[in-house]
Amino acid sequence: MKSKNLGFNSKLIHGGGYEDPLGSATVPIYQTSTFAFKNADHGAACFSGEEAGYIYTRIGNPTIGALENLVAELENGYGGIAVGSGMAAVNTIYFGLLNQGDHIVSSAAVYGPSRVVMEQHYSRFGVESTYVNTADTEAILKALKPNTRMIFIETPANPTMDITDLKACAKIARENNLYLVVDNTFCSPYLQKPLDLGADIVFHSMTKFLNGHADIVAGMVIAKEEGLYKKLRSMMTNLGCNMDPHQAYMVIRGLKTLGIRIERAQQNAIKIADYLEKHPKIEWIKYPGLKSHPQYELARSQMLGSGSMLSFELKGGLEAGKRLMDNVKVALLAVSLGGVESLIQHPASMTHSKVSAEAKLKAGITDGLVRYAVGIEDVEDLIDDLDQALAMV
Ligand SMILES: *Cc1c(COP(=O)(O)O)cnc(C)c1O
Repeated sequence: MKSKNLGFNSKLIHGGGYEDPLGSATVPIYQTSTFAFKNADHGAACFSGEEAGYIYTRIGNPTIGALENLVAELENGYGGIAVGSGMAAVNTIYFGLLNQGDHIVSSAAVYGPSRVVMEQHYSRFGVESTYVNTADTEAILKALKPNTRMIFIETPANPTMDITDLKACAKIARENNLYLVVDNTFCSPYLQKPLDLGADIVFHSMTKFLNGHADIVAGMVIAKEEGLYKKLRSMMTNLGCNMDPHQAYMVIRGLKTLGIRIERAQQNAIKIADYLEKHPKIEWIKYPGLKSHPQYELARSQMLGSGSMLSFELKGGLEAGKRLMDNVKVALLAVSLGGVESLIQHPASMTHSKVSAEAKLKAGITDGLVRYAVGIEDVEDLIDDLDQALAMV
């Protein structure tokens, strides 16, 4: 079915263009490592690219391909490259596009391991990096060097919920001949389409919203143009960080409800944010849907909704935050996000524990910051849960 003119929710169900030879309503799992050729000439033609055909699952597979085409369509990209995890996506991009002596500018509050792998491992190959608050466009400009090759951002940032201006970054990237890479995990294409705003590459930890059920780990890289797509695809097959067909099936299944899951979680988040903002024990709360968010207008201009992630700090700081986390009963005390269940966690000691204390402070990740990933439960239960836990603080 041609899905180009359908709405986003219809694309989730009918997009990607997979046509099953037997008419299966869902994409079947091609659980195979290799594909038999019709004859020697056919095999040679597949390898040379003269004929389109499957060869070997690390290179391509019909189930994985259906997911790649679907997500590329949702993000308005040229093509998708499915990988085994969000970090596999990060490494496919870093390794595929950075050379010895290159420099990247990135968000100080980027996902912890995206920074750790750069500072601890790519540095071994001579790649330099500078981390700034990319919500401040001037800070990005100041950090540029003659050898800068990439701007790598996450917006909203994790876990500070700072918003980076995507159009401004795209302008800087164009004027300085840099790649603009955006981690769109927090939003999903339902809430933000960075390629439409000028990014070259978007990637996802599909472990989060796209799969949405906290039952697998997966990643996806989407390139705007064919040249970048081919370069990154070749990197993925050579790194061997491909996705598994069963994983792809799970994400295709989870994706069908992306729109309704996000709408529901967002409705819950708006109510929880209102509740927390008024609570006397809250020092501050940051949620892009609150007028008190310093970049409320920017968020409204580039996001299609305010999402379901929020960060806050209790007046009692770290000790109070710990008591809150130890006393919630409905939300799980767990890292990750984007699933149907609400999760609460403490970035300074959990997701960002490997980031240096100085870097954390600079990025605004205070010791008392608590991150709440709102799920799709009944909001009354989530608020009651927070209420009883806050009473114990
Ligand atoms: C989880 C996450 C990643 C890493 O993804 P994995 O699937 O865990 O490898 C990258 N970026 C963000 C924003 C994330 O939340």
